[in-house]
Amino acid sequence: MKFVVLTIFPELIEAFWSSGIMRRARESGAAIAKVINIRDHAQGRHQVTDDRPYGGGCGMVMKPEPLSAAIRAAKQGAPQAPVILLSPQGRRFDQALAQELSTRPELILLCGRYEGVDERVSETLVDFEISLGDFVLTGGEVAAMAVMDATVRLLPGVLGNEDSADQDSFCNQRLDHAHFTRPPEFEGRQVPEVLLSGHHDLIAQWRRTDALLRTFAKRPDLLRQGRLSDEESALLRAWHREIECILRGQAGGGSDPSPGGR
Ligand code: SAM
Repeated sequence: MKFVVLTIFPELIEAFWSSGIMRRARESGAAIAKVINIRDHAQGRHQVTDDRPYGGGCGMVMKPEPLSAAIRAAKQGAPQAPVILLSPQGRRFDQALAQELSTRPELILLCGRYEGVDERVSETLVDFEISLGDFVLTGGEVAAMAVMDATVRLLPGVLGNEDSADQDSFCNQRLDHAHFTRPPEFEGRQVPEVLLSGHHDLIAQWRRTDALLRTFAKRPDLLRQGRLSDEESALLRAWHREIECILRGQAGGGSDPSPGGR
């Protein structure tokens, strides 16, 4: 898969690609990374990439000419790639979008700076926009790195064990189960005994139960989407019965949990 990143800070992206899984993906040929410095496509001695906004106001805007020249150069090396603008106004990035992007052979990622890019660029040269979330970053580079990171680890063969991406949070609408490593006791806290048992079926069952419990406690919205397995339905029913039982035990004798109650 080929990524072409357009930025005025190429050193940020190059540093990102030079270590860890990103470097491995690049070395193995699973991912090809190219960075285009937008400034190289700006005209004049000072290679200016920004200008004051029409209508006045604070901040600067990225000029359309260097952006369009940089996008056209990127397209030459990645003709099938959609042009994606990183923007707080775009589609919210999530695991499903990372999965979707990982099936594309090429992506062009355009990083904005200042107040953003001239609107005519987004209208005519950008295919869609991606947001990292409802907050404003200084530039699109961090967002582009997040998009590349989440996408590259889904490419076949990039992670050491191909299965590991399948068990991560948000695959199958569940959070991941807890993980432990040596020592078996740390500051008085023990690793769950079943994980030391060597009993593969029981370990797998413990992990499924723990993943369900965490999802229920931290992100119940995920359980409302999609189907529960028979095992999950049975576990939730058992927990429900247990909770009912606890609440019945409190009836009459417990404190009033309503707002303002004692
Ligand atoms: N004035 C813009 C607005 O309020 O929509 C924000 C511009 S921001 C300071 C500069 C650049 O950072 C944007 O052009 C975009 O590339 C990037 N950026 C900021 N927040 C982002 C987010 N949540 N997701 C993706 N990119 C973001």
